[in-house]
Amino acid sequence: MIEIESARNRRCKSGVKTAGVKGLFGAIGLAVLLACTGCHVLSPKPIPSSPLYLPPPLVADADSQIEVGRPVKWLDVAGWVWGIPSKVLLWDSRIDRHRFTEPTIETTAEYLQANQLAHIKVRMNQYAPLEDFRRLRKNTTVAWPYRYTLGLLSVGGEAILPGRLIGGDHFNPFTQTVHLYSDVPAIALHELGHAKDFARRKYQGTYALAYLVTPLWHETVASRDALSYLYQRHDRAGIVEANRVLYPAYGTYVGNALGPFSLGHSLPTYYGAVIAGHLNGRMLSRRIDEDLRRYDQMFASRPVHQPVLPTVTPVAWTEQTEIPDFEVDLGDESPAPPTDTDASSKSSCLDDVARPPI
Ligand SMILES: [Zn+2]
Repeated sequence: MIEIESARNRRCKSGVKTAGVKGLFGAIGLAVLLACTGCHVLSPKPIPSSPLYLPPPLVADADSQIEVGRPVKWLDVAGWVWGIPSKVLLWDSRIDRHRFTEPTIETTAEYLQANQLAHIKVRMNQYAPLEDFRRLRKNTTVAWPYRYTLGLLSVGGEAILPGRLIGGDHFNPFTQTVHLYSDVPAIALHELGHAKDFARRKYQGTYALAYLVTPLWHETVASRDALSYLYQRHDRAGIVEANRVLYPAYGTYVGNALGPFSLGHSLPTYYGAVIAGHLNGRMLSRRIDEDLRRYDQMFASRPVHQPVLPTVTPVAWTEQTEIPDFEVDLGDESPAPPTDTDASSKSSCLDDVARPPI
């Protein structure tokens, strides 16, 4: 959630400038106006499952796909406190929670399997920069000039500014790694959506560079895919959660994009866009049954393409992940014991930017 980082930076940079009350009310008014339209800008749309450009060395990696960092109480509490502004911004106490429950872990595993993302690593509250550097070297789908410039910077940034303290869920396309700190299934789906989006791009380094210029495109694609995934499963509660979290998160990007045009009112514009996201998401959830019906009709009217069942190996779980209550406590350096199926299940090709994340 680099967007939230941006909010922090924005506060730091312009903290001395007090945004005019007039501008604030104007932005809030704009937010209410936009929200009243029930804008469906993140309408469900799946990311095509092909083509896929996957790095063979990462596909063949026998390590566990999902790893959970060992709990360090003082650090996790500090991270939770650091994440309070983000919790308030997205109005969800599970943001930057630094521990995970079963729904988020299961959702992640199911999405990885359903989309054959065998090359993707998901680190849940885990700090492993050396391992990420190893993945950077193996990620052959990103051209080396990108890997050893932007890629090195991204891994270095993750090492110096550890997400275990400052949070910030994101996907790093240079290491094909999703970093999660929030215990919210919808956010996990969004970050995995980025991974799937990159996997179908032939020029992934260039696509990562484009994110630095036009993040809204990437964000839209990932969130629409997350919603599509939930609509396909008729996951009503999941859709409500995604509307409640992904729309205000999207608002942070919209607010950042509008900032330069807001004539000195970038801060109220930013928060106005977030408020608009909150209102809009909640409004859409009120008509969720109607949307689900429309979604069903739309797909019922199309020829049915039987999906090819994934040949991907079941997600390599570490023994520790199966701890009751999923109050996970995996060691950072204790990847799950590889199973026989690990390597074989990653037979095809599939593939993830650290901060700039996404
Ligand atoms: Zn994103």
